[in-house]
Amino acid sequence: MLWCTKIRPWITQNSPSEITNLSAAAHSVAHYIRAGTIPQMKSSDPADIPSALKNSIHKRLAPWFQRCKRPMPWRNTSDPYAIWLSEVMLQQTQVATVEPYYQRFLQHFPDIDSLAAAPLEEVLKLWAGLGYYRRARSLHRAAQFIASTYHSVFPCTYDQILQLPGIGPYTAGAIASIAFREAVPVLDGNVMRVLTRLLLIQHDIARPQTRKLLWKIAGSLVPNKNPGDFNQAMMELGATVCTPTRPRCESCPLATLCAARREHLQHRFPVRQSKSATPRISVAAVIIRSPQGRLMARRKPGGLWEHLWEFPAFELVRPTAAGVSKHFFALTGLRIKLKRHPATLAHQLTHRRMEYTLFTGRSLSAAKVELDAKIASPYDAVRWITDMTSVPKSRLTEKISALAG
Ligand code: SF4
Repeated sequence: MLWCTKIRPWITQNSPSEITNLSAAAHSVAHYIRAGTIPQMKSSDPADIPSALKNSIHKRLAPWFQRCKRPMPWRNTSDPYAIWLSEVMLQQTQVATVEPYYQRFLQHFPDIDSLAAAPLEEVLKLWAGLGYYRRARSLHRAAQFIASTYHSVFPCTYDQILQLPGIGPYTAGAIASIAFREAVPVLDGNVMRVLTRLLLIQHDIARPQTRKLLWKIAGSLVPNKNPGDFNQAMMELGATVCTPTRPRCESCPLATLCAARREHLQHRFPVRQSKSATPRISVAAVIIRSPQGRLMARRKPGGLWEHLWEFPAFELVRPTAAGVSKHFFALTGLRIKLKRHPATLAHQLTHRRMEYTLFTGRSLSAAKVELDAKIASPYDAVRWITDMTSVPKSRLTEKISALAG
């Protein structure tokens, strides 16, 4: 196997002081490689990471993090509520986008009590534009849970935090280690990339068994002293140095320990099976104006964009003005002549790509509209809206509104 044959020269080319660490790392790497498929792996025991390698990682990573960490507002606090908020906002969203939302949200809801007492609509309005609105709803639900179950005091152990609505192992690990100094790991895309490169783990990271192994390895690496700093350092390294396409190995504090760098295989890790093509969904969005504003519909609870307002939309393979008008009439009882707008819009979701065609029209009278309950639709309310800022809506709806003019 390619990787095995290259490990011995790697050890022999290094200075004696590095050999202990590198041999240990190589031993570990070879162990994972030899182990074959993960279900048969005896090495899934985290103790298999040699302590010399662990110590070397800690020794190099801690000062690098202190020197190179990016300043971020949530790094100046140990308030678990603020750390929780930042971790939730940072899921699937970039730091620069999150910062103003984080500041605004904290000003508006400075603690668990204020968030728990707020109506959901108000929370969604402050979240508008950040996307993945399920996060805001879970945050709100969890704040109410903490207020009623823990008298508004944030629970302080990993196990308790994990029980909160909408909180998974990653967020629980981040809050417990950063706010409460509990030695528990985090594993996000950045940490997975660093670990698979560092230890040359060649299993498909999309597989649950691989994730399980990586959680164990991450757990075995977390030190008892400053676990929150260690976790943040691993994430920071993946975000700023060990990047997906152009890792800056020359600036990496773990460079002398890294098996992928030694083998010039950085770009082959992490291993990910090629995904099947993302399905494309064709959607027609209808923007109707009247003297009383534009017609908008509210998404039902339980689905995508729940409780948010949008222009009524229909999934149609080849939408035409006449076809969309029929669907629109069936749903709202409003007869209208539509014309196709020249603009189109694509919106990428996790597992599908939505391709929007826009249709516009005018209603001369502000006719009364009502949803036909017999028609299956994702909506539970419809109304004319003059002031778009008065309702919570997604960034996608804002884009459609701007395009339609
Ligand atoms: S040496 Fe390169 S590949 Fe290895 S952890 Fe550092 S940046 Fe990533």
